[in-house]
Amino acid sequence: MIRTGQQDGIAKLRELLAESRRAMVFTGAGISTESGIPDFRSPSGLWTRMKPIQFQDFVRSREIRREAWTRRFEGEDTIAKAEPNAGHRAIARLVVTGKVSLVVTQNIDGLHQQGGVPEDKVVEVHGTTRYCKCLSCGLRYENDVVKRMWAETGDAPDCTSCGGIIKSATISFGQAMPEAEMERATMEAYECDLMLAVGSSLVVYPAAGIPIAAKRNGARLVILNREETELDSLADLVINAEIGPVLSAAVGVN
Ligand code: NAD
Repeated sequence: MIRTGQQDGIAKLRELLAESRRAMVFTGAGISTESGIPDFRSPSGLWTRMKPIQFQDFVRSREIRREAWTRRFEGEDTIAKAEPNAGHRAIARLVVTGKVSLVVTQNIDGLHQQGGVPEDKVVEVHGTTRYCKCLSCGLRYENDVVKRMWAETGDAPDCTSCGGIIKSATISFGQAMPEAEMERATMEAYECDLMLAVGSSLVVYPAAGIPIAAKRNGARLVILNREETELDSLADLVINAEIGPVLSAAVGVN
């Protein structure tokens, strides 16, 4: 394993990208901090202020659902106002030029797509905040509709079709992973020859198993993160630096 900082990291990443025929990107909350969305595990991350709500608790308790919706509507402006940053744009360039075949993200903010990655080249393994869903019948609810239901009743919204529980289309801790998305991400991990893991502490499973699957199947693994991660010892190259400057210089975009 080679560990580098910004300058060497840019040069080495360029080389690995040039040699790759089929690269893949795996991202976490760290890629969106430069867009103003806090991550979970940094010193200023969300977990220093509040613990995440477990899926089982959300389902079990209306009170907890009220808490979840309160947090959601308080936090939604941060995501709604966020713009893609240099890191998102560099990844989009790698996708549209055909260097990267798929972006698998743990993020729920939609910034890869806003930054120019085509919808069909992004797999959101932890879902999205871009809409909500009934947990029982799967009916999709647009965010503004749910917000209106919340404003009118002051209560956690229930499905108008089947009476089930409406939840943001994100995957909470304790909730089953989306099968089709996980399968597509894992298949691509088996096929790629270069895996870039960007802005993730790589501690949340099963998502963190995706870069491991790539490495075990012969791909080179690059980890770009300002801090050490759980999987550094598996990587071929670890770049401890800020994401935007490194990716934009390595890819040649601003
Ligand atoms: P994490 O918070 O565990 O790890 C983020 C990592 O990124 C940290 O190790 C941090 O040091 C690093 N980092 C932050 N900003 C960076 C920067 N500018 N340059 C380099 N490194 C930087 O996040 P995770 O691994 O994605 O796991 C947390 C879970 O919470 C995931 O499921 C994630 O999707 C979700 N989450 C998503 C968002 C979002 O959608 N933007 C925000 C918070 C949490």
